[in-house]
Amino acid sequence: MKRFFLTILILLLLAGGIIYLNKTRVVKKELLSISGTTMGTSYHIKLVPETEENIDSSTLKVKIDSRLSEIDQKMSTYKENSDISRFNRHVANEWMTISAETFTVIAMGQQVSKISDGAFDITVGKLVNLWGFGPAIHIEAIPDATTIQTLLSQLGYHKLELGQTPPALRKANKNIYLDLSAIAKGYAVDAIAKLLLENQINNFLVEIGGEIITHGEKRQHQPWVVGIESPLSQQRSIRKRLQLQNVAMATSGDYRNYFEEQGVRYSHTIDPATGYPIKHKLASVTVIANSCMSADALATAIMVMGPVKGLEFASQQQLAIFMLVKQDDQFIEKYSPAFVPYLKTPEE
Ligand code: ADP
Ligand code: MG
Repeated sequence: MKRFFLTILILLLLAGGIIYLNKTRVVKKELLSISGTTMGTSYHIKLVPETEENIDSSTLKVKIDSRLSEIDQKMSTYKENSDISRFNRHVANEWMTISAETFTVIAMGQQVSKISDGAFDITVGKLVNLWGFGPAIHIEAIPDATTIQTLLSQLGYHKLELGQTPPALRKANKNIYLDLSAIAKGYAVDAIAKLLLENQINNFLVEIGGEIITHGEKRQHQPWVVGIESPLSQQRSIRKRLQLQNVAMATSGDYRNYFEEQGVRYSHTIDPATGYPIKHKLASVTVIANSCMSADALATAIMVMGPVKGLEFASQQQLAIFMLVKQDDQFIEKYSPAFVPYLKTPEE
């Protein structure tokens, strides 16, 4: 009997050893990278394969690409038949049904509009286009003040109504033109994270055009490390490295998408209060949140508010944000109390 238990014990130890070895082998396995293009930008995904069998990266890439294209087909102003483009052509004061998914993103947009007192506003599309940042051709001259004022008087998130069942939209006038560019990428990041989890992948980093989400770890006891860029248009360099665990991060900046006219930089972020591109010293703002969709929208909202109001807002809302503010030829760092835990430099 004793021998029997001993054999069982040895067998158990052996089995444990094999499982352990197997685990360390899996943990040390190479990260898998999948990348491509979507929404006028690029995406990069890194993941830790759980077992030998369950990852076929080309099949996974097909799933990812088709999910991303599905979202783009619904939400892009560059696609004629998207929910957004159909609604932008739709008559005023009449309901139009849209997909549940587009509705979710618009509802979140409206929520961020409310808490940011209209700094974030998806109805500014006509102004975005007027300033040459939409799907139309880029502009040659600064738009005239009268056109801006006329448009401004007709825009605003409160002029867009949302109906629940079925998901539908209605606008108060024909100049309400939706643009989800400041939130859809974040939503797509969340959607890909969901897809990976559904495919039994639990350790990954998803990035689309600079908006990021992480889940699990890169290696055992080693969280994912991401970088915040220096806000320089001519080069790409990392200003700050952060560890992220099961959170999302989005950045808005004035240094990638802008045009210059007589030494003045006109950014693609429009202040819905003035109808003009933002004019303050905030070069970039990074928001860490649970969902990338909200991080994306909030980063744009804070970009509109500027360094002082933006930081106040973040502190009130208990948001983790990090700002780079122009001062002479340098950038100074500002952050909210909730960002403090992220300041520790990663060991990697
Ligand atoms: P990026 O696209 O560089 O990540 P954002 O998320 O800040 O940057 O989105 C900026 C885009 O959002 C602009 O190109 C424009 O299409 C749109 N936009 C501009 N101003 C606003 C605003 N006040 N609220 C919502 N969307 C905006
Ligand atoms: Mg954004």
